Amino acid sequence: MIAWLKELIGATSSVPSIVDAATIGTDRGPSATLARQLALVIDLNVCVGCHACVTSCKEWNTSGAAGPLSDQNAYGANPTGTFFNRVQTYEAGVFPNTETIHFPKSCLHCEEPPCVPVCPTGASYKRAEDGIVLVDYDKCIGCKYCAWACPYGAREIDEKRQVMTKCTLCVDRIYDPQLPKEDRKPACVKACPTGARLFGDVKDPDSDVSKAIRERGGYSLMPEWGTLPANQYLPRRVVDTAAVLVAGSGIDHEPT
Ligand code: SF4
Ligand code: SF4
Ligand code: SF4
Repeated sequence: MIAWLKELIGATSSVPSIVDAATIGTDRGPSATLARQLALVIDLNVCVGCHACVTSCKEWNTSGAAGPLSDQNAYGANPTGTFFNRVQTYEAGVFPNTETIHFPKSCLHCEEPPCVPVCPTGASYKRAEDGIVLVDYDKCIGCKYCAWACPYGAREIDEKRQVMTKCTLCVDRIYDPQLPKEDRKPACVKACPTGARLFGDVKDPDSDVSKAIRERGGYSLMPEWGTLPANQYLPRRVVDTAAVLVAGSGIDHEPT
């Protein structure tokens, strides 16, 4: 278990726990030693912020609809429910060298997930076979400890069912033998029109995700927290916008 969480748990012995503190992080949180770890790798160069991944994720995981949503007023006047995947958009740089960056974010399926050991019922767990972090809804009591422990804001409570929810890497799709092989991918990966979302085993050195991380400098979010996020990002290649504009205008040097 990561050091800061151990210290926190040690300092807050009054926190009610159904699980013996001595077992925390040992019985339910397999760590970086996992042989297989499924994850998403997101290419920030080609994400155009279209939100197709957001809507397909919502439709597959939380819409509760059996068919396509209607075009108008799909969720009624007062839409509720949770989003497992969101795209945040930022403006970076100083004019005229500015750029818009779209940044998709969902649960990162950390190898040392702080959301797991804080769970008093064992509802929050990390699977040994593929590293996916999940919530057992039958055990979840909606206390939100896990949401407070997650440094990435990746968990959302389902107000209706009073259970904690988060990205499951579409665990109900990726192993479904009823689906054609090409559809056994997370809904967001299937929907992305630019191929910005790669999916696979980051522990397999020959997988596409591992190659992309290795060859294109993949990085993880906030490594200083020691959570070892499995999901990674491929960084933007820096473009000198002013130079491109000057080149495109036919001016061979900038005005003095
Ligand atoms: Fe847990 Fe948050 Fe990491 Fe997901 S991103 S595994 S919810 S700590
Ligand atoms: Fe565990 Fe549910 Fe509480 Fe999260 S909200 S810590 S999953 S019981
Ligand atoms: Fe970016 Fe793909 Fe999501 Fe569109 S679907 S916002 S391109 S990751």
